[in-house]
Amino acid sequence: MRVRRLPRDPGPAAWNRLLEDPAPANRLEASITADWLVIGAGYAGLAAAHRLSKEAPGARIVVLDAVRVGDGPAGRNSGFMIDLPHDLTSDDYGGALEGDIAQTKDNRQGIAHAAAMVEEYGLSAEAFTLSGKINGAATAKGAAHNTDFAKHLSAMDEPFELLDSQQMQDITGTQFYQSGLFTPGSAIIQPAMFVRGVAAGLASNRVTIHENSPVIALERKGDWVARTPKGQVIAPRAIMAVNGHLNSFGYMQGRLMHVFTYASMTRALSEDEIARLGGRRIWGLTPADPMGTTVRRISGTGGDRIVIRNRFTFDPKMEVDARRIAGVARDHDRAFAARFPQLNGIEMEHRWGGRLCLSRNGVQVIGELDVGLYSACCQNGLGTAKGTLAGGLAADLSLGITSPALERALAVNAPSRLPPAPIAQIGANMHIRLAEMRAGKEL
Ligand SMILES: Cc1cc2nc3c(=O)[nH]c(=O)nc-3n(C[C@H](O)[C@H](O)[C@H](O)COP(=O)(O)OP(=O)(O)OC[C@H]3O[C@@H](n4cnc5c(N)ncnc54)[C@H](O)[C@@H]3O)c2cc1C
Repeated sequence: MRVRRLPRDPGPAAWNRLLEDPAPANRLEASITADWLVIGAGYAGLAAAHRLSKEAPGARIVVLDAVRVGDGPAGRNSGFMIDLPHDLTSDDYGGALEGDIAQTKDNRQGIAHAAAMVEEYGLSAEAFTLSGKINGAATAKGAAHNTDFAKHLSAMDEPFELLDSQQMQDITGTQFYQSGLFTPGSAIIQPAMFVRGVAAGLASNRVTIHENSPVIALERKGDWVARTPKGQVIAPRAIMAVNGHLNSFGYMQGRLMHVFTYASMTRALSEDEIARLGGRRIWGLTPADPMGTTVRRISGTGGDRIVIRNRFTFDPKMEVDARRIAGVARDHDRAFAARFPQLNGIEMEHRWGGRLCLSRNGVQVIGELDVGLYSACCQNGLGTAKGTLAGGLAADLSLGITSPALERALAVNAPSRLPPAPIAQIGANMHIRLAEMRAGKEL
C-alpha cells in the first residue's frame, strides 16, 4: 500500500527551536532488516521502542520518522501529561465515573512509563517534572466548570485543592483568574527536550532511529516491507505509531477526526519584564472550559517566556495553510493581552500549529491491524500520556505479554464512523466555533 499523505506540520516546533540544533539526521539510505519496525518517533513510537528494548533483549529495533524528533506534534504541544479524564468534547473534561477511573489508571501507567524513561536516561526536571496542574477559571462559568469537575473528582476519590483569586495571582502574576483547581498527578514536560532526550537514550547498537525518513509504502511480503525514498526496512513485526496518519496507510478510514490546535510563544522576557509580570517563574494552566486558553510560563533553556495555546479546527485533509496560523494569531494576541496587561507590546517569537487525532467515541486504536502489524494510534488530544501508554501496550501485544491495561484497550469498540468528510467538516467546525464562542473570556 502506498502511503497517501505525509505529515506537514505548520510553523516551527518552537520547543525544539529553544534547544541546540541536533546533529545531522541519520536518514535511511539502505535496505536493512530488523526484528521490529516502529513507524513514528513521537510519544507512542518512542515508548514502544523502549518497551521492546527491555522485553526483547537481543532484538534489533528500527524506528522511522518522516521528520526530525521533536519537530512533529510531539514537539509542538503544551506539555501537560495529564492523569485525570481530559475529554475535550465535554464541558468540564469529565465523563462517566467508571470509565474515568479506568482511564485515569491507564493515563497514570503512561506517565509512570515516561517517568521510568526519564530516570533511566537521566533527563532533567526541565524535560519532565511531576508537578501537578491547575485548571484556571476566568469567569463564574469557568469556576462552575471547576466546581463540577471537583465533585466528579470527589466521586472518583481523587485529591484536589481549590485556589482563590489571590492564590491564582500569587502563582501567575495576573489578576485575570478568579479561581483555580489544582490536581497533583500530572507531569509537565518541555516536549521537545523530553522526546529528544528519550530518543538519544534509546539509540544503541540495537535501537536505530532514522529521521527524515518517511515511509512511502508499506506491504506484507511474508515480512513487512516499509519503503522510504532511499531505503527500506524488512521486519516480521511493525508498530504503527503515527497517530492520525494511520488513515494515510489505509487503516480506520472515515473513523478518525483530524483536528489542529495552535500556539504562540513570546520572545525571552527581560529581567525588568519578569519583575513586572510577578508570580512564579514556572507554572502551567489548562483552561477550566476545555475550549479555553492554555497558558504556560516557562523559565529555562531559551530564557523566560509565555506560551499561549487556543483554538481548534477540524481539517480532514490533515493540512492547514499559513493563513490559518495568521488568523489564530489574533486570538493568541488577544488572550495574551487580556491576561498580561503588564506585558503589553511583547511580541510572539514563534507561532505554530499541530495535529491531534480524536475518535467520536473517545477510544484509542490499540491492537493488531493485520498479521504482525500493530497500532498505537488515536490519542484523543492527550498523546503525551495516552501515546506513551499506547506505545507500551502495542509493544506488549506484539511480544505476547498481557496485562489488565492491555485487556481494557483490546476490549473497546472501534472508533465510530464519521459522516462523509464535507458534512463532518462543516458540522464539526460549526460545533467547535460555537463552543469556543460560548467559552467567552476563558478563550
Ligand atoms: C499546540 C498543541 C498543544 C497540545 N497540547 C497537549 C498537551 O498539553 N498534552 C497532551 O497530552 N497532548 C497535547 N497535544 C497533542 C499531542 O501533541 C499529541 O497527542 C501527541 O503528539 C501524539 O503522540 P503520538 O506519538 O501518538 O503521535 P505524534 O507525536 O504525532 O508522532 C507521530 C510521528 O509519526 C510520524 N509519521 C507520520 N507519518 C509517517 C510516515 N509516513 N513515515 C514516517 N513517520 C511518519 C510523524 O512525523 C510524527 O513524528 C497538543 C498538540 C498541539 C498541536
